[in-house]
Amino acid sequence: MVKKFTCSFCGCDIEPGSGMIYVKNDGSLLYLCSSKCRKNAVILRRRARKLKWTDVYEERVRRQKAAAKARSTKSSSRSRGSRSKT
Ligand SMILES: [Zn+2]
Repeated sequence: MVKKFTCSFCGCDIEPGSGMIYVKNDGSLLYLCSSKCRKNAVILRRRARKLKWTDVYEERVRRQKAAAKARSTKSSSRSRGSRSKT
């Protein structure tokens, strides 16, 4: 059985026989599905959560929307400025 990997950058499934594994100097592995992901992750050093076409970004937006929905459904009794600086 061929092991399936997910792209470390965009989060999509990598088909067996395609994609590449990038080994960083510290020994950690990056599973990359395409040259687009390789260029954005390695050469351009972009953050996946800031790019709209990645799964990480979509997941973050979905989580923020859910949090905003939960916040709006709850009663607004909690004051926002309660956190004090030390
Ligand atoms: Zn990818």
